[in-house]
Amino acid sequence: MAKVKFEIRDGETAGELTEPDDASLYFIGRIETPFKTLAECPRQGVVDGPLCRIEVFQDFADGLKNIEQFERLQILYWLDLSRRDLLTQNPGLKGRISGTFALRSPQRPNPIGSSMVELVGIEGRFLTVRGLDCVDGTALLDIKPDRCKFSDNRCQ
Ligand code: SAM
Repeated sequence: MAKVKFEIRDGETAGELTEPDDASLYFIGRIETPFKTLAECPRQGVVDGPLCRIEVFQDFADGLKNIEQFERLQILYWLDLSRRDLLTQNPGLKGRISGTFALRSPQRPNPIGSSMVELVGIEGRFLTVRGLDCVDGTALLDIKPDRCKFSDNRCQ
């Protein structure tokens, strides 16, 4: 996937990045979506969005045991095309400047995206889901069941 370099826009600021601490993440799979470019991606995934396919790499496939019990999953992914040094941002160039940590922008020091998806089907180590917003080929970091299942339905 070609790297994208975003320009600093009006009101935005960037910090100076030092060498990252080494979190040593594993890319556990790959996400296939119909969105071939950033411009085609929705701002956030929606429950009636298009079908997408999540491939879990063979080395991690045993981690899917019992996943079929869940209708909703939280998917975490690595937004690799992001700029990582922005501290303030001007979303949509509307002039309302916010700090990166007050936004769900993909441009952030650790560009981790998360979406709650509907689990539509499972075939071996491939999941079919709805509700993603990432470019085709985005790396998969983690899959977690909907936390409401574990909190006596105290969350909405
Ligand atoms: N739902 C996630 C979240 O809230 O953490 C991501 C939200 S972010 C606003 C979604 C946007 O990220 C998309 O509209 C697209 O512009 C951008 N995006 C999608 N895939 C990307 C990738 N692989 N690298 C960088 N940006 C990406």
